[in-house]
Amino acid sequence: MIEMKDVYKQYKNGVTAANGFDIRIKQGEFVYVVGPSGAGKSTFIKMIYREEKPTKGDIIVDGINLSTIKTNRIPYLRRKIGVVFQDFKLLTSLTVYENIAFALEVIEEHPSNIKRKVMDVLDLVGLKHKARMLPNELSGGEQQRVSLARSIINTPKVVIADEPTGNLDPETSWEIMNIFEEINNRGTTVVMATHNREIVNTIKHRVIAIENGRIVRDQHRGDYGYES
Ligand code: ADP
Repeated sequence: MIEMKDVYKQYKNGVTAANGFDIRIKQGEFVYVVGPSGAGKSTFIKMIYREEKPTKGDIIVDGINLSTIKTNRIPYLRRKIGVVFQDFKLLTSLTVYENIAFALEVIEEHPSNIKRKVMDVLDLVGLKHKARMLPNELSGGEQQRVSLARSIINTPKVVIADEPTGNLDPETSWEIMNIFEEINNRGTTVVMATHNREIVNTIKHRVIAIENGRIVRDQHRGDYGYES
């Protein structure tokens, strides 16, 4: 599903954030990406949805080589990938419903399907009753639920998340994790950068640990592994 082959990323300031990443992630896997701040986790995540391009090496997502993808094919790639951020990135002037519907409108989904699809994902995240509210009328956990709903509206093959529980209290973080579990149980690949030791050590999945731009550990049902 996702393959990185000898991937290097050097930013313009000379920092090498990826120093030879080689990994394969199969369809349906759940992968945590852990490591200290500045290790290269976000770079790893961003290269998968082509927010950043590697300086060298190949990244293949669902058969598409990101090194050679034409710009006009990037929207097609992004439809296969849902993205969830630490700070939710919702459009503040749009309602919950509109934030999610927007992701369907841009791909020109038939209007008659939009309402059904949006209400289905809102049901999955438990927020059907808040469809008409604005993001700033919701708690952080609820906003993250909306962002999760938006990430899966196009039934992507993979959901990529960069510190999705980073701004949430522990109880809310567990609720969000349960939704990720549900999404993964439905067959969607999940790749999640996280600092949440308790979650990684409790809901066991593959752990890829990055330090100084290198993958230092890749473990089936691994532990978080760092002292705090
Ligand atoms: P993490 O997510 O593990 O905290 P990042 O991937 O954000 O790590 O960063 C890895 C390294 O790359 C850090 O040294 C960071 O300062 C640097 N870096 C990240 N993004 C950029 C950028 N856009 N320009 C220059 N350096 C960057």
